[in-house]
Amino acid sequence: MKVVTEVQNPLQVFAQMESEVRSYCRHFPVVFAKESGHTIWDTAGRDYIDFFAGAGALNYGHNNPVIKEKLIEYLTKDGLTHSLDMATEAKEALLQRFDEVILAPRGLRYKVMFPGPTGTNSVEAALKLARKVTGRHTILSFTNGFHGMTIGSLSVTGNRTKREGAGMPDAMDTAAYIERLLEDGGSGLSLPAAMILETVQGEGGINVASDAWLQSIEKMCRKHGILLIVDDVQAGCGRTGTFFSFERAGIVPDFVCLSKSIGGYGLPLALTLIKPELDIWKPGEHNGTFRGNNLAFVAGQEALNYWQDDSFGKSIEQKGQMVHSRLEQLVTAYPYLHGEVRGKGLMQGIAVKPEGLAEAICTRAFERGLVMETSGPNGEVMKFLPPLTITDEALKTGLAILEESIKDCQRKERG
Ligand SMILES: *Cc1c(COP(=O)(O)O)cnc(C)c1O
Repeated sequence: MKVVTEVQNPLQVFAQMESEVRSYCRHFPVVFAKESGHTIWDTAGRDYIDFFAGAGALNYGHNNPVIKEKLIEYLTKDGLTHSLDMATEAKEALLQRFDEVILAPRGLRYKVMFPGPTGTNSVEAALKLARKVTGRHTILSFTNGFHGMTIGSLSVTGNRTKREGAGMPDAMDTAAYIERLLEDGGSGLSLPAAMILETVQGEGGINVASDAWLQSIEKMCRKHGILLIVDDVQAGCGRTGTFFSFERAGIVPDFVCLSKSIGGYGLPLALTLIKPELDIWKPGEHNGTFRGNNLAFVAGQEALNYWQDDSFGKSIEQKGQMVHSRLEQLVTAYPYLHGEVRGKGLMQGIAVKPEGLAEAICTRAFERGLVMETSGPNGEVMKFLPPLTITDEALKTGLAILEESIKDCQRKERG
């Protein structure tokens, strides 16, 4: 009986009750029930390889067994769950571990702010503090950047569809152009408080900023006294092969926004890293109820163990190279894609020309058992964001499913 209902419309309850704003469930029209490692199962028991990883919130895989054990242990001993920003054992352990494994070995000094549990909370906090520190208001941001869905974050987000929900004006700029505007007194551009960027644009289509470009941006910011915010919500936590995505360029941002995988287990957690001399907040000046998600502290702390030495980073690098060469192969083998391979580490994509094709291939891939999303201003990029812990074998299987889906769509295209 249950099976029959599900076959008819597995999403009936959602269609009836959940707001029209829902989106991912439209792309993956099944009800999910279980997940482990790089695999998700639906209620019918079908398994899917995950090349999406919760948009980068599940870098350490689904129900990572080591992290799960720590969580169960913590729950069993009645550890605090919610604590506002009170001092807790779990938060203390996370802070210490973060310094030990991440900050100190990289020679970085940051104060850690807990701005509320989401990426956009982290961005809002950075924008607000940058304005407070400089006494200036304007924030420079980039075309196709994505920083979140609250008004402040949206105002620096350069994606039209996402901004239309709130009717925000356009914001775009490039390095040389900004420099010229700043130097031209008559340009009307008032000196900005800060600049915000992603080193690899996740939602914007896997656009990789070169090291040289990042260095020149940093230099320009220093020269003009503009604060540099790196939004590492998606590209951070190892996604590009190093813990911070900006490490490769050797730049040191004034603020770093982290969320998504910093909670280790898909649990909501965000950090805003602040250069100590810029931490001019007064006590309680930026507040929020859910800044003390202790389960996320416990999971996040455990996840940092992956960064104790450089082996995890190396494995990401290696898997990234494998994905990259396989994607290059596909682009060559299927010229109808007019494909272009982009990305770093396990944050990769293929931009394809024919309109709607990326979406069609992802839809087909899902029918064949692979969860994958599109990104880019016109959804023209197939995005590969597997858990960083995925096995080589699952990567290969996923990529084989992708190839079959590309073939299916080619047949359709030819009629
Ligand atoms: C996902 C994302 C955000 C927003 O995070 P939320 O938790 O959805 O608010 C901000 N910046 C980047 C780069 C992201 O990928």
